[in-house]
Amino acid sequence: MREIDLIEIRRGDITKIEADAIVNAANEGLLGGGGVDGAIHRAAGPELDKECRTVRTERGGCPTGGAVMTGAGRLPCRKVIHAVGPVWRGGAAGEAALLASCYDKSLALAEAAGLESIAFPNISTGIYGYPKTEAASVAIEATIGALRTRRSIGKVIFVCWDEENFELYRKELERRRQRT
Ligand code: ADP
Repeated sequence: MREIDLIEIRRGDITKIEADAIVNAANEGLLGGGGVDGAIHRAAGPELDKECRTVRTERGGCPTGGAVMTGAGRLPCRKVIHAVGPVWRGGAAGEAALLASCYDKSLALAEAAGLESIAFPNISTGIYGYPKTEAASVAIEATIGALRTRRSIGKVIFVCWDEENFELYRKELERRRQRT
């Protein structure tokens, strides 16, 4: 099976997804915020906040481009992987490598924990301002690259909250399918 065939695009709310892990677009302090981060913390309940505070105390949070894993509180998934995407600063500040690293490190953590399915939001494309077309390309490229070596992972779902991202991801995947 080709790596690209392990990828699925959906529209909707990531807090409802019953994957082994969902990824949160977190911030370095892991303190919760707006956007998908706020939605995940609200749906998960206080247990997730508590775990994030422990990670913050013990490890000083999570650097941009990195990822950490916690339990999932009341969410229907088993684990939450908190990945910290870059703030868009024009594109010459290493944003693409940092964004790719979020996907790569999240998939590495999932594999190390023996997880098979993982759902991603469109990291950095909300409050952090990353251009959506470029972010979709980076996300899919990094994911396909990681899936070549992370063989335990059998499904990656990109959960798009907005129509624009949904269409961009679908087109990007279609374009790559035709190329290979
Ligand atoms: P960032 O700070 O990384 O930009 P945001 O949470 O502002 O994070 O946005 C990241 C993406 O998550 C955006 O494309 C936004 O539309 C999307 N998003 C917001 N709420 C949800 C949700 N409940 N499920 C999935 N995606 C969501």
